[in-house]
Amino acid sequence: MAASTRAVIVICDSLRADLISPADTPFLVELAARSANFTAHRSVFPSTTRASSASIATGCHPARHGLLGNTMALDEGDGLVCRNVGAPDFRDRMRRATGRTLRVPTLAERLRWHNEHAIVLSNVSPGAAYFQDPDGYGWVYHAAGSYGPDGEIDDAPSRALNKGIAGDAAMTARFCSEILAERAPSLAVMWLSEPDYTGHHAPLGSPQHRRAIAAADANVRLVFETVRRLDPGGSEILFIAGSDHGMETVADSIDLDGVLVAAGLKDGRGSRDVVVAPQGTAATIFFSENARNRSGAVARCLAQQEWSGRVVADAELAAVSLPTDGALRVALSLAADDRVNPFGIRGHAGIVADPGDPESKVGFGQHGGLGRHEQHPFLMVAGGGFAPGERRRPSSLVDIAPTVLRHLRMDHDDMDGQALPPAAE
Ligand SMILES: [Zn+2]
Repeated sequence: MAASTRAVIVICDSLRADLISPADTPFLVELAARSANFTAHRSVFPSTTRASSASIATGCHPARHGLLGNTMALDEGDGLVCRNVGAPDFRDRMRRATGRTLRVPTLAERLRWHNEHAIVLSNVSPGAAYFQDPDGYGWVYHAAGSYGPDGEIDDAPSRALNKGIAGDAAMTARFCSEILAERAPSLAVMWLSEPDYTGHHAPLGSPQHRRAIAAADANVRLVFETVRRLDPGGSEILFIAGSDHGMETVADSIDLDGVLVAAGLKDGRGSRDVVVAPQGTAATIFFSENARNRSGAVARCLAQQEWSGRVVADAELAAVSLPTDGALRVALSLAADDRVNPFGIRGHAGIVADPGDPESKVGFGQHGGLGRHEQHPFLMVAGGGFAPGERRRPSSLVDIAPTVLRHLRMDHDDMDGQALPPAAE
């Protein structure tokens, strides 16, 4: 099929910009020289995959799109309960509790306004995959269930995928042949599970983690080579490769529920007055109507802890792009520091213990907060009129959607992000 104006996005989940190296990512090093390389690229907050996915899809921060992290408290009629956004049924819970999914349109929905479509292949959690296009304006393919404009699809290749190197490779092969070369949608998104999957289960910089990084690099190369084969001149297909966030090494685990109960600020574990939503190296805290007057006291209690980094409450939530009009009243990012792990990788932070995930994470990678390294994903843009060269001006995940829409000649002036500069600085 001949090239036409379209965009291709590949996300290497969790790949920190400073872990791009000639030894582990020879292709990304080459691409950095051939593309617009945004070296001051930033994550959103919480720097979790699911909130990041919604920000990439909508061009908006969580304050506007409404997906507040990897977990969030919902009141489905029986008081606030922390729910896992990654679960396949979370979209239905969110619709039940709030009447809708995201509060602003995704790229997939905007493309449908123009009778064009988006296809998403994702090998991360169901929630992170589905919030690329929660209402099925285009197609989303995932192991936990796939869907398109006409509803659910029984898709055997997706069902067979597992997170990790082999699953990512199988997904990439399909993305290149079936999606890019045959179906050729206006927007094609592929979200790799690596190096995030291995980074959560091995030390950063360990041989296993480096193998996962190298595998992601090889997959980006295959997609880029396919794009160049379909569009040798590079003018028609906008190619975007990046990550959603980085990682820090987990220093220790904090029992935030226990701290709040001991301080008399939460009635008990599992109580619905003050509800902690763990976000890895951060937490968001939701308050029932009757407990809302405790937000200031909770923020002061947290700010006094040695493991506390940044604490914001009430109106200050706007400073970290979180909403100020709902049950979320306090957000915490745990303290991060620049200590080096046994494999020479900088950056440690504590995590907030998650009662739903008791596995010890100490010594492995995690993210969610405002630490320097978890907030430093990479972003490279090639084709579509982007001149090669470093861009030092700060950019953000929310700038990706308007950049795609500008390339597709669609309106993009109602987002938090700005279309990225194609000309070299
Ligand atoms: Zn992620």
